[in-house]
Amino acid sequence: MLTDLKPQPADKILALMEAFRADPRETKIDLGVGVYRNAEGVTPVMRAVKAAERQLVETQETKAYTGLAGDPAYAAAMRGLILGDAAPADRIAAVATPGGTGAVRQGLELMQYADRAATIWLSAPTWPNHPSIVRYLGVPMKEYRYFDDATRMVDFDGMMADLAGVKAGDLVLLHGCCHNPTGANLTEEQWQTVADHLEKTGAIPFIDIAYQGFGDGLDEDAYGTRLLASRLPEVIIAASCSKNFGVYRERTGLLMAIAPNTKARGEAQATLAFLNRQNYSFPPDHGARVVQMILDTPELRQDWASELEDVRLGMLDLREQLASALRQRTNSDRFDFIAGHRGMFSRLGATPEQVAAMREEHGIYMVGDSRMNIAGLNAATVPILADAIVAAGV
Ligand code: PMP
Repeated sequence: MLTDLKPQPADKILALMEAFRADPRETKIDLGVGVYRNAEGVTPVMRAVKAAERQLVETQETKAYTGLAGDPAYAAAMRGLILGDAAPADRIAAVATPGGTGAVRQGLELMQYADRAATIWLSAPTWPNHPSIVRYLGVPMKEYRYFDDATRMVDFDGMMADLAGVKAGDLVLLHGCCHNPTGANLTEEQWQTVADHLEKTGAIPFIDIAYQGFGDGLDEDAYGTRLLASRLPEVIIAASCSKNFGVYRERTGLLMAIAPNTKARGEAQATLAFLNRQNYSFPPDHGARVVQMILDTPELRQDWASELEDVRLGMLDLREQLASALRQRTNSDRFDFIAGHRGMFSRLGATPEQVAAMREEHGIYMVGDSRMNIAGLNAATVPILADAIVAAGV
């Protein structure tokens, strides 16, 4: 059996991490993997997470199984964080999942279980794990245009022209905020247009929200998700706590399915619990419990939100610094899009050759499609990157 296996294609981002590690140059800069790092290059445990974990160690009396859906208090706290009161709780089914990836996977499995013929529409480009999981499950897939290579902003006309092809019951995968890999996001007005179109066509939004609080603020980043949740009968939401709580390795995610009525909600809840049971039974609890404690304890929540706000403002500041360094060097505003992007990533719009030149000549590691992790920079490395971008002729 095992001798029949074929080699798997290497994960490009993990291969880049390896190459970075092997590079002996002290001046090398890692803008590859999608993990937040502070100015010292550290991915810290957030203060509120540490405090909640300490408390948990002291007070937790059992590690017996939770429920198949995870702890309902976690789902309720996350529902509040993401949706506010955008949709009534009695229409929302929810299960804890191993990270946002687990949520995406369970959302696709739910879709497939309910309707094998439905197509999922993905933005071009999108997080590479989306098409990878979709293909692995054999879910029919189409793409819609998203990124305008000239302006480095959203190609909204192209997006809507392509989405004119959706059929009732198709799913449209949208990034709730902080689009990965481009950093280009819909405006509030554009979200309204998307909501109108989905309402008219009967297509179902599948929202992946993995960076709430990294863009314009916790509530602002949930604008599109809340709008769709308040207007449409059915919405799938896959959420990750990896980034905004910094609990990457705890595998903390949530899948929500908003149903048209309470009866359908009951079926969806039972089906999601069944799907968890088939795949891994009980979802991980530690990260979920820590997140729930933070969200439900006012002092912890406030401290968490304030640390997250510092992270967000730090990334915005780096964006401004880089855009300004490039403005000076090029005497033009053509890199201002970097300051207009939101979240951890920006797609620079460099060719693969230019990306390779920056790596070989300057030790700057970004993903081959020119996705840069802004959090990999600091005040000292911004000018080095700006010089390299200009030298590579981007
Ligand atoms: N969705 C998107 C768009 C992401 O960028 C990520 C993280 N790279 C995830 C989901 C899932 O992250 P995790 O499984 O680590 O929670």
